[in-house]
Amino acid sequence: MKIAILSRNAKLYSTARLVEAAENRGHQVRVLDVLRCYMNITSHNPSIHYRGEDLTGFDAVIPRIGASVTFYGTAVLRQFEMMNVMPLNESVAISRARDKLRSTQLLARKGIGLPVTGFANNPDDITDLIEQVGGAPLVIKLLEGTQGIGVVLAETHNAAESVIQAFMGLKANIMVQEFIKEAEGSDIRCFVVGDKVVAAMKRQSRPGEFRSNLHRGGTASLIRLTPEERSTAVRAAKVMGLNVCGVDMLRSTRGPVIMEVNSSPGLKGIEAASGKDVAGLIVEFIENRFKTLESTKEKPSSQPSPRTRTRGKG
Ligand code: ADP
Ligand code: MG
Repeated sequence: MKIAILSRNAKLYSTARLVEAAENRGHQVRVLDVLRCYMNITSHNPSIHYRGEDLTGFDAVIPRIGASVTFYGTAVLRQFEMMNVMPLNESVAISRARDKLRSTQLLARKGIGLPVTGFANNPDDITDLIEQVGGAPLVIKLLEGTQGIGVVLAETHNAAESVIQAFMGLKANIMVQEFIKEAEGSDIRCFVVGDKVVAAMKRQSRPGEFRSNLHRGGTASLIRLTPEERSTAVRAAKVMGLNVCGVDMLRSTRGPVIMEVNSSPGLKGIEAASGKDVAGLIVEFIENRFKTLESTKEKPSSQPSPRTRTRGKG
């Protein structure tokens, strides 16, 4: 197959591993800087240009779109979709997952376990909002935050009130969440590929910190998931419409609760903790999905194909 990887930097561990895995399995791979792709969206023959070159002939595209380039990145991915290039994750699913509030609402609608979460716009409603999520201690999150930055633990009602007021004063979008104390500073990252959790790790925060992000000094280790955790992760991926994702959950007294679903999960931590070839499993998933799509594409004619396709693996 001819595979494109949308990534800003070919040297990043995850990108390099995907290139390696795809080449090992006999595919042709190209890393494209998403911000250097430009396109004609009105033509009958949608196209993407890259540094003066017309990009053609790709079978699949792997989006590795960073949070800071979501808007432009998903537009480029959508253009690939218009050109019938199979995306690993669809642009609409990525946009959905990037919005913490929207994803929380979607997951809640499908009955998936979540920390009690609130959202408000007016400072006059803060007291009631705090009560709704069960009072202090509680967690306040910037909707646009990543890597643990913008996640605050407010230990008292007064602290919660002033932090929420401060964020609102800055016109920042926030959500307020029940603090899952029993998680004791750890969370679980489930790496989903297709309808399976292919690897999982436990992340433990450093002493005195409640955020387990590796970027905040957390450490990763192997973990054995319960069947409930496994099925919750797979269901969450399905609700978001993501084929490959990292589902982050906390172990609460009422079972697993989901914090977020990441559409471009990093491979470094999970491959190191699990010892698994996650990049290889992703490429294998692409091959199988491509085969299935190709076979259904040929069906509508309901006539025996006059010639065999030569566009398979290779
Ligand atoms: P980010 O997108 O910045 O990673 P998260 O929502 O994943 O934000 O939160 C960062 C970390 O903070 C989590 O990995 C978890 O360890 C901790 N955390 C987040 N929400 C809660 C919560 N409601 N209760 C307990 N710990 C939490
Ligand atoms: Mg997180």
